[in-house]
Amino acid sequence: MKYAIISDIHGNLEALNTVLEDAGKRGCESFVCGGDVVGYNANPKECINIVRGLDMPCVMGNHDEYIGQDCDLSAFNPVAAEAVIWTRDQLSAEDRQWLCDLRYVRLIDHFSIVHGTMDSPRYWGYVQDVSDAAASFTYQSTVLCFHGHTHVPLVFIDDGIEVDGGTFEHLNLEVGKRYFINVGSVGQPRDGDPRASYCVYDAKNETVELIRINYDIETTQKKIIEAGLPERLAERLDYGK
Ligand code: ZN
Repeated sequence: MKYAIISDIHGNLEALNTVLEDAGKRGCESFVCGGDVVGYNANPKECINIVRGLDMPCVMGNHDEYIGQDCDLSAFNPVAAEAVIWTRDQLSAEDRQWLCDLRYVRLIDHFSIVHGTMDSPRYWGYVQDVSDAAASFTYQSTVLCFHGHTHVPLVFIDDGIEVDGGTFEHLNLEVGKRYFINVGSVGQPRDGDPRASYCVYDAKNETVELIRINYDIETTQKKIIEAGLPERLAERLDYGK
């Protein structure tokens, strides 16, 4: 079985469609989502419909929570708050309830998925280095766990003695090691590479491949501007930041 693991779609329909088509061509039969379906870009409703339509197991991201609920936004930076308010307005009560009902952690077959960290999935901590990853590993009961949240693809490996981490393109999963893999972001990459990011997990061959793919950024940017969302959200897609 080949799984496409996607995360942080953030309402970017062009990137989502490109990723799903590419994953289909690569023989992925199952799709799994690490949360943040909405927020930032201009097609939140369409992206929710696709995730729901494919019956994709999905966990809750921080933006799904902020947009699904009526939480106070005073601590947010103004660009993020504006996008949250705009996105709430695009969604029906039923869409927002679907966001609220997402679980924080899910077990899919033999692996798990979480948005940010396994040690405190509800508090939206970031795993950026090996010490963050070590804390998360203490709560990871599966050999393999995928996540997103930072929008930067990275792998952390626990060999039972120490935790190591770094960038990756292709992984051969080894017996005796545990893996916490950030699949990057479909809709708003932040590692300096503007291409959409996701992972293909081949359970039969025990491999994980990071895929980067160009999509129609121009159309996404045009929609952001036309929607009246902050221009900064369109600009950053060019730089992958
Ligand atoms: Zn995100």
